[in-house]
Amino acid sequence: MSRRVDKLVVHCSATPEGRDVSAKDIDRWHRGQGFRKIGYHYVIRLDGTIEKGRDEAEVGAHVQGHNANSIGICLIGGVSADDPKIAKDTYTPEQWTSLETLLRDLLTRYPHAEILGHRDFPGVAKACPCFDVKSWWASRQQASKPVCPTCNRLLD
Ligand SMILES: [Zn+2]
Repeated sequence: MSRRVDKLVVHCSATPEGRDVSAKDIDRWHRGQGFRKIGYHYVIRLDGTIEKGRDEAEVGAHVQGHNANSIGICLIGGVSADDPKIAKDTYTPEQWTSLETLLRDLLTRYPHAEILGHRDFPGVAKACPCFDVKSWWASRQQASKPVCPTCNRLLD
């Protein structure tokens, strides 16, 4: 690994609920904004497909002041279909599964990385990614612990 990664940052595309958007679309938008290419490393589409953006070894362009040591993941969605100004948790069951799978995979390569949302950085005046990443991740950790099949109690 050519750079130190200690943060895995979850974003949303801030596109309306139900609209299918691809990494290629975001690449085009970001280039239109003057970026070299898509700013994220991964994009998770509505059907759960994980698409690659920048290479992990490459510094991204997704969170001001923290790009050098982070990886950016973008969930498609994040705003209401009726009003794009309204932040909304719009994610499909397939997106949640893929997000968890991707984060676990990234943790095998960056075991000490912190998992957080864009809005968790100080000074960020956005709702992105429109849910509480830290508490969600904590609940997933809990859910993945081994449970006794008869009494359902946690085994550790
Ligand atoms: Zn963001």
